[in-house]
Amino acid sequence: MSFFVVDIALPVPLLRTFDYLPVEGDSRENYQPGQRVRADFGRQLLTGIVLGTREHTEVPHNKLKPLLARLDDEPLLTHTDLQLARWMSDYYHHSLGDVLEHWVPTLLRRGADLSEADENGWLRLAAADAEPALRGTKQLALWAQFQRQSYIAHRHLTAQGFSLAQCRKLAELGLIKEQQRLPVPPLPESVRPSLTLNDEQQSAVAKVTGVLGQFKACLLEGVTGSGKTEVYLQLIDKVIQRGKQALLLVPEIGLTPQTVRRFQERFDVPVALLHSGLNDRERLQGWRQAREGHARILIGTRSAVFTPLPDLGLIILDEEHDGSFKQQDGLRYSARDFALVRAHQAQVPVLLGSATPSLETLYNALTGKYLHLKLTRRAGNARPPGMKLHSILHQPLVHGFAEPVLSAMQQHLNRGKQVLVFLNRRGFAPLLACKQCGWNAECRRCDARMTLHQYPPHLHCHHCDYQQPIPSVCPECHSPDIEPIGQGTERIEEQVSALFPDTPVKRVDRDTVRTKQAFDELFDEIHTGKPCILVGTQMLAKGHHFPDVTLVVILDSDAGLFSADFRGMEHSAQLIKQVAGRAGRAESPGDVWIQTLYADHPQLNLLIDDGYHALALSILRERMDQQLPPYSHMAMLRSECEDRATAQRFLEQARHILQHWLKQYGQKDAPVTLLGPVPAIMERRNGRYRFQLQVFCSERKALHQTLDAALKQLQELKGFNKVRWHIDVDPLDTL
Ligand code: ADP
Ligand code: ZN
Ligand code: ZN
Repeated sequence: MSFFVVDIALPVPLLRTFDYLPVEGDSRENYQPGQRVRADFGRQLLTGIVLGTREHTEVPHNKLKPLLARLDDEPLLTHTDLQLARWMSDYYHHSLGDVLEHWVPTLLRRGADLSEADENGWLRLAAADAEPALRGTKQLALWAQFQRQSYIAHRHLTAQGFSLAQCRKLAELGLIKEQQRLPVPPLPESVRPSLTLNDEQQSAVAKVTGVLGQFKACLLEGVTGSGKTEVYLQLIDKVIQRGKQALLLVPEIGLTPQTVRRFQERFDVPVALLHSGLNDRERLQGWRQAREGHARILIGTRSAVFTPLPDLGLIILDEEHDGSFKQQDGLRYSARDFALVRAHQAQVPVLLGSATPSLETLYNALTGKYLHLKLTRRAGNARPPGMKLHSILHQPLVHGFAEPVLSAMQQHLNRGKQVLVFLNRRGFAPLLACKQCGWNAECRRCDARMTLHQYPPHLHCHHCDYQQPIPSVCPECHSPDIEPIGQGTERIEEQVSALFPDTPVKRVDRDTVRTKQAFDELFDEIHTGKPCILVGTQMLAKGHHFPDVTLVVILDSDAGLFSADFRGMEHSAQLIKQVAGRAGRAESPGDVWIQTLYADHPQLNLLIDDGYHALALSILRERMDQQLPPYSHMAMLRSECEDRATAQRFLEQARHILQHWLKQYGQKDAPVTLLGPVPAIMERRNGRYRFQLQVFCSERKALHQTLDAALKQLQELKGFNKVRWHIDVDPLDTL
């Protein structure tokens, strides 16, 4: 047999692939790109992906090791999957093996078989109209089930009170037989009719329908409550009618049971779900349902963008501006940007929906690169909320609320409505301080203060998760005179309960809503429509439909106005608009009060008076002046180390390498700008000092070439094994 090696990608950080000898006895035909193999790597056993085979290798023959096993006879990943993974590996300057991990569900990564997703069930063998001689009502009832369905999962039967023995009895009679099978997502009992679209919705649906079957990026910019979801539903319907699959990506927090139900109830085709609330087996099931084409609609969060869909016809990203579409560690990819690449590869349209589009997307729509679709009015009879800035400068506050705000709350409650109080800060108070000596509780591992929590009582660092008991006296001067300063949702809940003793108050944040079930219960309660006050963080802000909330109070929106992050204002405006969008979504008009110390802040006023789009245009002008994204492309090198000087020195070296390379190869017409290294705003986190180096260029290609060249040298730098570092392409967080 002739000599060959197998080229495989392994999930390790190194930017290269690896040559192995085949499993003993395997011939070259046994290996196809996309198969999984097991390989011995250093002291680890890893699952790798075959990329190809070849006759030559640079590895000395006595160093070559054989693969331990070939896990698939047929490739698990297609040529397209591998192509897309290669794109991602190049674009994000990340190891191909690590990238490929995102294509393979956890169980398969651990070496499991595809059949791991199967469940036990029974298959009908006899004709549906057979009339077997059965005795006993239970057995007849069981047979009746099989007359309607040719396959039933065992757990469905037990749920209906049938026993294993009864199934076996039918099997003995040759009516059914036991069989394992991939569960198919259930069909709805009945299908809800679609709504009659208004003109704007109709035009949006028509335009996207017009580009089905080809690549086109489209922005659906529609104010909250304008009926974007209805547009998605009707487009998906068109896609399904053409025999294609639709992929809907939503932010983690937006994947509520109500949303899912809305999609499941509309179609008589199987809908699969992929989100973080599922266990590994359920994820594998959803993945296979999509990959094998059983599921015609896949709804999922960020990582669902990698799911193979043989008949992909349309990708929709709801709330495209949402930060959760960008992964913030490991492979720092943007699911939005990758959705575009994927849509291009599959030659299908991609629809990005938002009331508050990111400036990158808006820019592409304004310059004509994307189709720009607009929904300017709320659907049905709902009217837009009236927004009001309320200055609290030199105003007396009652527990953080201005008097007129409190009376507005009382009025809405008197009318039998619900009030939402928004504060994006959980815990009781952001600070615990000593009145005698000025001490305040700081995290010992971060440059940050500890948040005081009362339920249960403890100090908690929200950056590194460090927790400690609340001291009874000041650790510095031993004075008992220590007190919480400022407000978090716990404290607001307490204070609002005292101010409105007759009204139920519900707090919605990560501490009260830890599980999906808690979430569902709370939302069911809110949907009873009884007057109440909701106090919550951004968990309340996204995508939910609260028909009875008519007043939204935004307590502290000022933090974002002066952020050091150039996206600070953009993100604040998005959040304010999203929260405000919760008011008056049904028949009753809504009010929004924003308490602020900066009532004459020009951009805040622009947002309130003229809306998000007007503000976005103004921010875009600033970005153009400063040549910031979307007018330039950006990448960021970050380093962190327990030793401050080493973290800094690493990036100084990086800067040196980049400069050196640019001097030799840099292009005059696409200059690369370097900014830094500078310490991160929170310089120390979790015991490590953090530095960053920003890289800008007007040309993507030049930026990537520069990074590529630098990366090779950076990986070879000696003396920095204690430094953790990475490249973030198109970083979302620049602090
Ligand atoms: P968005 O996704 O833009 O926030 P939704 O699709 O959730 O908006 O729509 C808001 C409300 O308006 C929902 O209750 C929806 O049923 C209703 N709606 C949407 N389109 C129409 C329509 N064409 N006619 C009547 N009601 C509509
Ligand atoms: Zn003190
Ligand atoms: Zn900390």
